Amino acid sequence: MPVAIRFENSYAEELQGLYVPWQGQEWPDPQVLLLNTALAERLGLDAQALQGADGARLLTGQTLPDSARPLAQAYAGHQFGGFSPQLGDGRALLLGEIVDPMGKRHDLHLKGSGRTPFARGGDGRAVLGPVLREYLISEAMHALGVPTTRALAVCTTGDRVLRQNGLEPGAVLARIAASHLRVGTFQFFAARGERDKLRLLLDYAVARHDPDLTGASDAALRFLERVGARQARLVAQWMGLGFIHGVMNTDNMTISGETIDYGPCAFMDRYDPATVFSSIDHQGRYAYANQPAILLWNLARLAEALLSLIDADEERAIARASEVIEATRARYRDAWLGVFATKLGLFQPDPALIEGMHALWVGQGVDFTSFFRALPDAVQGQDTELAALFAAPGQDLTDWLAEYRGVCRAQGADVAQMDKANPVYIPRNHLVEETLSAASETGDMDLFLALLTRVQNPFEPAAGAERYARPAPEEAPQIVTFCGT
Ligand code: AMP
Ligand code: MG
Repeated sequence: MPVAIRFENSYAEELQGLYVPWQGQEWPDPQVLLLNTALAERLGLDAQALQGADGARLLTGQTLPDSARPLAQAYAGHQFGGFSPQLGDGRALLLGEIVDPMGKRHDLHLKGSGRTPFARGGDGRAVLGPVLREYLISEAMHALGVPTTRALAVCTTGDRVLRQNGLEPGAVLARIAASHLRVGTFQFFAARGERDKLRLLLDYAVARHDPDLTGASDAALRFLERVGARQARLVAQWMGLGFIHGVMNTDNMTISGETIDYGPCAFMDRYDPATVFSSIDHQGRYAYANQPAILLWNLARLAEALLSLIDADEERAIARASEVIEATRARYRDAWLGVFATKLGLFQPDPALIEGMHALWVGQGVDFTSFFRALPDAVQGQDTELAALFAAPGQDLTDWLAEYRGVCRAQGADVAQMDKANPVYIPRNHLVEETLSAASETGDMDLFLALLTRVQNPFEPAAGAERYARPAPEEAPQIVTFCGT
């Protein structure tokens, strides 16, 4: 018996031409390995039923309730700057939408459900390590207060899939998102010159994400502005955590402002603005410090796609869209200053202080996360722990701390609040790798679950968990991450 979920299907009903109806592949032995029960309950789903055999059949796309209309979404996208007019879900399915008890609509999406007509050369599969990685990092992001798609479940399929290190356990990730509309979704119709369908898509996106703009004569322009505002806040939050997304292609930038696609992402340990983890990002296009510039570049691609809906006169449309992009640049800067002001326990951003802090870190190998946890003591005069994070703590650090103390006094800052904004635990790469290897090589989930518990409670130091707060040893090799895993 299929698990009883009443799916709605607004995407399937309203956006013909943007998908192919499709089914999941058959698997030998689908099993639920991990269910996000808290999320299931928030969605109003029956967690117990999902945990069992029928749940495994639903969450791997085998047996669906009648209300599901599974489909593979079409989209286009700029990947590393080059445009592909047709990408689409090569190994994923949208099962349908779930309206939660609060009335909020969510996509339920499977990744690793088999080849689709958009698979190109891919095998349509996902394997356990990367699927667990997405579960872990997206849960961490959620606990850190960052908008993100969320993992509902990890299932194993019972067969093995060939990857670069040999055969690995096949897996399917069930993912929840406010929607899977991306910049690339708009680019799909724009590239085909299908203005009527583009208009339908805009109306759909507005109804779903910015319903107050429904019917507005300048809806396209204001929608662009909203997407820019959401993305500016999102990227500012990433910057405040040392998060490097790794593959900010336009097909991986959501309209909702949620982080999506956890393939090659990683958190930076020691501060270096040029940090890149992805094996294919040779130019550093998606390096830590380049993320805000890429956000604006991607937004310009969305603007291009929307031009014909912004104004019939192309020149005027370009002028208006350019204003929005410039406004987003300023908005990002404000969001970035706001994020770092909060990390410093300040009520008002102090740009000179914040920029001075970034300058302090350069070339010092400072662990980005630990710096902020050592600050409350340092500002109260005990700066040994903070200074120990620097390769060569100098006068500039002493001077900056004095300046910081002055700003704290002037603003009546409450340093006790800082620990609520600065995590002790992030999914550090060496810990992530260690837990994923254990899970996929020996089936041992204990290390994974221990790390998951830490990153789900990132602000609360736990007894005996010191190793989770430390960066990798300095001599450890730099972690390399991969796309399409
Ligand atoms: P990503 O880098 O994960 O954003 O993926 C880019 C595109 O490649 C998307 O269209 C994916 O659906 C597709 N893709 C990635 N891995 C696979 C795979 N193993 N099989 C089929 N399609 C894939
Ligand atoms: Mg993607």
